[in-house]
Amino acid sequence: MDLYEYQGKELFGRFGIPVSDGRLATTAAEARAAAEALGGPVVVKAQVLTGGRGKAGGVKLADGPDDAEEKAGGILGLDIRGHVVRKLWVERASDIAKEYYLSVTFDRGAKQPLFMLTREGGVEIEQVAEENPEALARLHVDPLEGFQPYQARRLIYGAGIDDPSEQKQILAIIGKLYRCFVESDAMLCEINPLIVTPDGEVKALDSKCTVDDSALFRHADIAKMRDVEAADPLETFAREKGVTYVKLDGEVGILGNGAGLSMSTVDVVVVAGGRPANFCDLGGGGDAQGVVDALEVITRDDQVRSIFFNIFGGITRCDEVARGILTALDQMQITMPIVVRLDGTNADEGRKILADAAPANLHVEPTMLDAAQRAVELAQAA
Ligand code: GDP
Ligand code: MN
Repeated sequence: MDLYEYQGKELFGRFGIPVSDGRLATTAAEARAAAEALGGPVVVKAQVLTGGRGKAGGVKLADGPDDAEEKAGGILGLDIRGHVVRKLWVERASDIAKEYYLSVTFDRGAKQPLFMLTREGGVEIEQVAEENPEALARLHVDPLEGFQPYQARRLIYGAGIDDPSEQKQILAIIGKLYRCFVESDAMLCEINPLIVTPDGEVKALDSKCTVDDSALFRHADIAKMRDVEAADPLETFAREKGVTYVKLDGEVGILGNGAGLSMSTVDVVVVAGGRPANFCDLGGGGDAQGVVDALEVITRDDQVRSIFFNIFGGITRCDEVARGILTALDQMQITMPIVVRLDGTNADEGRKILADAAPANLHVEPTMLDAAQRAVELAQAA
């Protein structure tokens, strides 16, 4: 789950990472009130779950309440890379002497958290990595050993930060950011820019945090931050039903058991010349209720023209899945074509159960590729 800048800053604040005081606003009038409350110059910032807001005109300085109201009016409703601005963060403006970059994320290859720090902040980090890789200092943290301050010193020297006061403040921020990362079960905590003010104060001017969805059950406060309005309604519905579902753009609805098989199913539909409508993983089971829930989600997408059921029976038995499919079809009114490929444990029995029941819109194919081709043809014919 991605957090908005203001939510990430709230998280930073809890761990003692310095941020500016600010207020949330959803209208220009609220932005004015926020500027009045804060006093002095403010910065009005679009809250959207994408970067590059500054360049897109979503970050504006305002010298007071009148100006903040006007700037807010210009930013609300803007479309930034496909995200419409509905919320603003109005914060006390900072004077900037330097813009650094600091982040911690997972390096999956190394199986360790990785810190990155550079004096070349403010721009996108991919650009720095490409054009000026030696300016980017990296530090892996052994998760068992935990974070050690001496390592952070190496990171700071590596980035070429030589002012002692900056070193001291950044050292403290790195330790706090690591705690924030670990204790929030985050997958990314990025500060870009990490600024130094003309007075030499270091603070986070922006935040980008991603929290592991699978850990949200132990972070009720963070889970609550999810913006239901901005989320895809189908994915929200799927989450409520407990179905693992990702919406895609095509016409062939996909249902597989197991994440690996479901991903292969997406691929094979593309190989067969079709476009997958979704990724959907039934999980290990194949019970009727699981099938009903998944089908309810998949068929809610009105772009879907056919459904491809790809089941491999390992621990799950194909005859049970077949019965689950029939029970589900009994309970639901689905008229669109459904193509089933069953293989693995008790596959013959499963196919026989489906053949005997023989609903008119149900097609059984022997292999994954045959089934994909059939599902694609049926989608195109519909
Ligand atoms: P992003 O473009 O989505 O990454 O949004 P940021 O929050 O990083 O802001 C973009 C840029 O706006 C920063 O790199 C700063 O240069 C500028 N900016 C943001 N806040 C302030 C502020 O308080 N004062 C000044 N002078 N500039 C700011
Ligand atoms: Mn930024």
